[in-house]
Amino acid sequence: MNIFKEIGALQAHLKHARCSKKTIGFVPTMGALHPGHLSLIRASKAGNSLTLCSIYVNPTQFNNPADLAKYPRTMEADVAMLEGHGCDIVFAPENEEMYKGPIQLSFDFGKLDKILEGEFRPGHFSGVALVVSKLFNIVQPDKAYFGQKDYQQFKVIARLAEELKFNTKLECEPTVREQDGLAMSSRNKRLSATERKQGLILYDCLKQTRQRLMRGEKLMTLRGEMAATCLKQGVKMEYLALADTENFSLLENVVSPEHSILLIAAYVGEIRLIDNILLEEK
Ligand code: AMP
Repeated sequence: MNIFKEIGALQAHLKHARCSKKTIGFVPTMGALHPGHLSLIRASKAGNSLTLCSIYVNPTQFNNPADLAKYPRTMEADVAMLEGHGCDIVFAPENEEMYKGPIQLSFDFGKLDKILEGEFRPGHFSGVALVVSKLFNIVQPDKAYFGQKDYQQFKVIARLAEELKFNTKLECEPTVREQDGLAMSSRNKRLSATERKQGLILYDCLKQTRQRLMRGEKLMTLRGEMAATCLKQGVKMEYLALADTENFSLLENVVSPEHSILLIAAYVGEIRLIDNILLEEK
C-alpha cells in the first residue's frame, strides 16, 4: 500500500497508473475507520483496478470548534485496517497541503444545504463541497463511494458533481450497523457505555416511525411522540424528517414509499448522532 501526504507525489503515482489503463475507485474519509468505511473500500475494490482512500479531517466542514478538536484521530490503526483490506493507496494530507491561504470559496445549493443537517450545522455542506471538489480534482477518480448514513451529504455531492461536471460516477452504499442496530460512526468512539445504550433510540425511533407512517399515522404527531420518548431517555432530538430520495424535498405525508427516506439527528450527551432508513428497504 502506498501512502502519500503530498498532492504532487500522489498525482505522479496516479498518472502512471492511468497510463497502464487502471481505473481508480475513491473513498474519501475523515479517518477513525470502522466497518462502515471498510464496506466502501470493498465496493471500490469490486468495481475498480485501484482503490484510493483519503484520510483528512477537513476543518472547513466543522461548524463547532470543540467537535473538530475532539474528532477521533487514529491514523496508525486506520492504515493497518486499510492495508488488511487490500486498499492500494492512502492520501493523508496535512491542512497546509489542502488549504494554502485565507481565501475560502463557498457554495450555495439553495434549499438542499439549508434544511436538516444544513439548518443545524450552518456552513457544513459548503465545507464538504469545498473539500470534495479539491479531492476530486486531485484524484480524478473514475468512481467514488459514499455511505447512505450521510444521505443528505451524498445528495449535496451528487449536485456538486453534476454542476461542476466531474467525470466521476458516484455510488451510495448501505449503512453498516452494530449488531444491536446502532449505525456505525467515528463519533461512537466518544460515547460512554451509558450513552452507547442511549444511542440505540435513534434507530428505534426510525423503525417505529416508519411502521406507523405506513399504517397511515401522521408524521407531525409521531415527531412529537418520538421527541418525548427520546427526552425521557436523556436524548435530545433535533429533527425527525421525511424526504424524497430524488430531489430531497421535505414531505409531511408518505406519497411514494419507494422514493422516501426517514432521517433523524439527536444529541446523546455532547455527541451528535445521525441516522436514516428508506421507507422501503431495497
Ligand atoms: P466520514 O469518515 O465519517 O466522513 O465518512 C466517510 C464515508 O464513510 C462517508 O461517505 C460516510 O457516509 C461513510 N460512512 C460512515 N459511516 C458509515 C456506515 N455506518 N455505513 C456505511 N458508510 C458509512
